[in-house]
Amino acid sequence: PTTALLGPAEIRELAERAGVRPTKTLGQNFVLDAGTVRKIVRQADVTAGERVVEVGPGLGSLTLGLLEADADVVAVEIDPVLARLLPSTVARHVDGLTVTEVDGHAVLRDADGRDRLTVVISDALDVHELPGPAPVALVANLPYNVSVPVLLTFLERFDSLERALVMVQAEVADRLAAPPGSRTYGVPSAKAAWYTHARRTATVGRTVFWPVPNVDSALVRLDRREPPATTASRQEVFAVVDAAFAQRRKMLRPALATLAGSADAAEQALRAAGVDPQARGERVDIDGFARIAEQLAAAGV
Ligand code: SAM
Repeated sequence: PTTALLGPAEIRELAERAGVRPTKTLGQNFVLDAGTVRKIVRQADVTAGERVVEVGPGLGSLTLGLLEADADVVAVEIDPVLARLLPSTVARHVDGLTVTEVDGHAVLRDADGRDRLTVVISDALDVHELPGPAPVALVANLPYNVSVPVLLTFLERFDSLERALVMVQAEVADRLAAPPGSRTYGVPSAKAAWYTHARRTATVGRTVFWPVPNVDSALVRLDRREPPATTASRQEVFAVVDAAFAQRRKMLRPALATLAGSADAAEQALRAAGVDPQARGERVDIDGFARIAEQLAAAGV
């Protein structure tokens, strides 16, 4: 089957015909550039027959790129107008697909009965289960205002995900991929490191989008890792991360005082975890936060 990607003229025409007015609140900036789409798909290492989840398919730019790579896609879109437009757009671009419905979701099926695209109309943050086979990769041009929560939520809820390739604001990409000790290291870096190794793989200029956003974007590749070996729960570790960065300039001893019950208790846990109580959160890697959480739990906090 042949696939044609969306070009600038067609995107505008599609939007006009369907009365789509891109909104900022939903981070609706659509990719007009086939080169960028193919780069995302390439960097995601998508292989034929793989099941991929896409958050925010929009008008279908990236969806078509994923289908071109012969992946099967489950796409979650919050905007019902865009979600309802997607099956017909894809059917026009990919040969041999027919539109059907399975459990209330629009599905595009090929002649061999393979479901190539399933469309879920929902806020991605509300999705706890995905229809069809479990996806192995998240590939998405994420809506900017919810990019980090969507990414972390999907890594938490869908442990079938082995990797993710996401396009986010350049500044968010820096934070996701930042190592401890760097200026941009913070809550997103530490939490992403719980699930994955993250690296920033490319910068994307704003002109590949319509409408043109105010900021540059970047691609981040995240590969699943084993979470730190610890008896503390993920929630306990994340509570330490949140407290450590709540006031960025604070040393860990006062920053963790409320969580630990007192500054002395915080100091004890930090020392037992092998972390300098005078250090700031930006020096501690996710394994360090896990050790601190474990010590706090052991002290009955
Ligand atoms: N994938 C398309 C592309 O690359 O051209 C569109 C990307 S656009 C940056 C983000 C998309 O996410 C929009 O289609 C928007 O409607 C959708 N979206 C925004 N918030 C969402 C949410 N909470 N859950 C699911 N989709 C959302």
